[in-house]
Amino acid sequence: MISIILGFVVFWVLARKLNLSKSIVPAAAIALSVFISCVHLTLPPENNLRVVLGGSLEPWVLLVSIFLVVYFYREILRRIRSISTKNTEENLPMNTSEVTFSDIELDRYSRHVIMREIGGSGQKKLKSTSILVVGAGGLGSPVLQYLSAAGIGKIGIIDDDVVDQSNLQRQIIHNDNSIGVPKVFSAQKAIKEQNPHVVVKPYNRRLNKDIANELLSEYDIIIEGSDNFETRYLVNEVAQSLSKVVISGALSQWEGQIMVFDHALNSPCYECVFPEKPADDFAPTCAEAGVFSALPGVVGTLMAAEAIKSILDIGNGLRGVMLIYDAIQSETRIIKLNKATNCRICADGKN
Ligand SMILES: [Zn+2]
Repeated sequence: MISIILGFVVFWVLARKLNLSKSIVPAAAIALSVFISCVHLTLPPENNLRVVLGGSLEPWVLLVSIFLVVYFYREILRRIRSISTKNTEENLPMNTSEVTFSDIELDRYSRHVIMREIGGSGQKKLKSTSILVVGAGGLGSPVLQYLSAAGIGKIGIIDDDVVDQSNLQRQIIHNDNSIGVPKVFSAQKAIKEQNPHVVVKPYNRRLNKDIANELLSEYDIIIEGSDNFETRYLVNEVAQSLSKVVISGALSQWEGQIMVFDHALNSPCYECVFPEKPADDFAPTCAEAGVFSALPGVVGTLMAAEAIKSILDIGNGLRGVMLIYDAIQSETRIIKLNKATNCRICADGKN
């Protein structure tokens, strides 16, 4: 009996190493125990198979009973959790008057609630706000982590990429186990583990013209952390037409930049600043030029801070300016941005 149990432990360890389905191990344990119990029940004591299996009927019946109790207990817990999560998603409050907090949430957000600038009403605003994060890479990682930690009610993530080994040097929301997994699902898992009170909507696809209008309409604020100009121009154009706030960030080797475009307040837009896509030689990608590991952490965290401040309408935001962070020189600069009178997107009379 002991050798069979030891053999099963080896199988259990191998199943974990090979990432086999979690239901295989309990199913195999129950099947094995039932089989051995049947052998003891049906075959005479002198039968070779019964001799090889060893032991007597009682301990195997006891083992089957323990496995069944543990298995069904875990299954019931899992179903209760999934019903609870579904209810949370269906009941996402749409405005602050409908927002309530459980005791656990109040404790979780207590360091916000005691701050004069945020308080209970500010925390309710965060819970009733939805944010779409475009790109779950270097910038998206800290953005998603801090939005989740801060208690944003609903977070959408759109990205069509899968996690690659070379991402892990800076894309800290993903880990070694996520390699090969679509980034939106890897990020969703990490967010739900960090804060189960947040509703997460993953969109495993590239943002394009066909879906941009409908998708951006669903969210209050857009955070643009993609790695390409086509997506930045598309987000800018659609957000402008919908009067949405966009927090935009970009990285290159040691330097990062952040801008906040508040279309409702007539601030300059992305195309006012970059009317034309730079030549590829002037804007190499991270894969071509490299990027310092902590840079997206700094820039993405600033983007999350600007988004949260924008929701709460507190402090001085980065509207109408570009903040540049130079990691190698440890310098920050702020450049004033002007609205372009002939901008294709936001000049007077255009929308
Ligand atoms: Zn413009």
